[in-house]
Amino acid sequence: MPPPLLTPRAGLPALALLVMSAAAAAQPLPVELRDSAAALRDTALAGTPAYDIVESLTMEVGPRMAGSPGDRAAVAWAVAKLEELGLENVRTQEVEVPHWDRGTLAVTLLGENPVPMAATSLGGSVGTGEAGLEARVVRVTGLEDLQSRDPEQIRGRIVFIDQQMQRARDGRGYGETVPIRLYGAREASKLGADAVVIRSVGTSDNRAPHTGTQLYDLSIRRIPAIALSGPDADLLAYRIAAGDEPVLRIHSTARQLPPTTSANVIGEIPGRAAPEEIVLLGAHLDSWDLGTGALDDGAGVGIVTAAAGLIGELGTAPRRTIRVVLFANEEFGLSGARKYRQMSDEEFANHVAGTEADFGAGRVWRISSNVAPEALDLVAGIHEVLAPLGIERGGNDAGGGADLRPLRTGGMPVFSLTQDGTEYFDYHHTANDTIDRIDRDAIDQNVAAYAAWAWIAANLERDFGRLAVEPRESR
Ligand code: ZN
Ligand code: ZN
Repeated sequence: MPPPLLTPRAGLPALALLVMSAAAAAQPLPVELRDSAAALRDTALAGTPAYDIVESLTMEVGPRMAGSPGDRAAVAWAVAKLEELGLENVRTQEVEVPHWDRGTLAVTLLGENPVPMAATSLGGSVGTGEAGLEARVVRVTGLEDLQSRDPEQIRGRIVFIDQQMQRARDGRGYGETVPIRLYGAREASKLGADAVVIRSVGTSDNRAPHTGTQLYDLSIRRIPAIALSGPDADLLAYRIAAGDEPVLRIHSTARQLPPTTSANVIGEIPGRAAPEEIVLLGAHLDSWDLGTGALDDGAGVGIVTAAAGLIGELGTAPRRTIRVVLFANEEFGLSGARKYRQMSDEEFANHVAGTEADFGAGRVWRISSNVAPEALDLVAGIHEVLAPLGIERGGNDAGGGADLRPLRTGGMPVFSLTQDGTEYFDYHHTANDTIDRIDRDAIDQNVAAYAAWAWIAANLERDFGRLAVEPRESR
């Protein structure tokens, strides 16, 4: 028998009505919306096509670095996949992307017993020329250490930046270490170095080096930028600690090719009442080329497309349009994200909220928001539906994902459904980023969270306000 407070027809005392209206104020989601979102969540937990989508992308297309044949194949694959999942208005938005070819790389630790090292060129690196280069190695412990050195110690040398990334569930070790990859070559070149080799930015303990983008200062000499696997960095550090002055020989045919064309791929579940208003689910379609980009970001593609597909199967359109955007070239310059942002002010103002899945396929453990303060009660309502998935509530400081940065800094509210990244950086940007790293139950838990979030965001009568506009970035 239900408790009497839930049956208003029975005639309630004034105090009970007061209690009920207070409860209604604390519960910002209409009961039907909360219940339909919970049902969607539970349907996803019972099984989704997300894993199969990632498997198809990684096995049938494979690596898809901007400008490569795999990138073009991925665009065609995505158009077909979104249509197959029942999304509407499936289309491409062409975008110019840089095109870099890593060519071949050989790094050898010279000596009486030369050692071939497991190494990879960093994105955008120049090659060495046909003759290759050979130089003594100087070890530094990070960018600050490098910047404090006398150019006399660095000139004509290979700088070895030996900074170890720390493992963490939220991946914070990446942010602390990635500057050595982004700026190592630039800073070493300022002091006259001939090349830079870094300890891979990652947590892998096997001989799989981690690639990733790096940024030259075009006003100074561009020098080869290379990452060593962890065990190879250990070897070099050991030799130096033992008092050796190791010499590396490097031969690389990496080169920049003319820019070419890729595309953002877009599909929608059209809204019924406010179709012009957009709730955005993002992921990036491109990947680095060493593995098949299963975690980065095939998983994100699988999660958001499966979430939208599930909503499409409900047979009831949401109030607003749910738009899936699979961005081109996140890895090597956010080309697709910048292109997508080029829209009219009116169209942009109709972007109600967005989130991007781009942190692998570990379980979501936290939802954080970046919304106007008056909308925080809505976040509490969303969290209530996600909590049974083991998801805690974070702060109102979400980044939303790299591809959403141009939208967020323009004022669009964003959410982060933070995945467990404890093991993500064992595989990130390595040859080991393959489908076998993904767990079906974990990726379905992700779909449950993303689908419930999108369904609620697209059905609320209210919106999430706007964020303060941040200055446009220079790059
Ligand atoms: Zn990514
Ligand atoms: Zn990446």
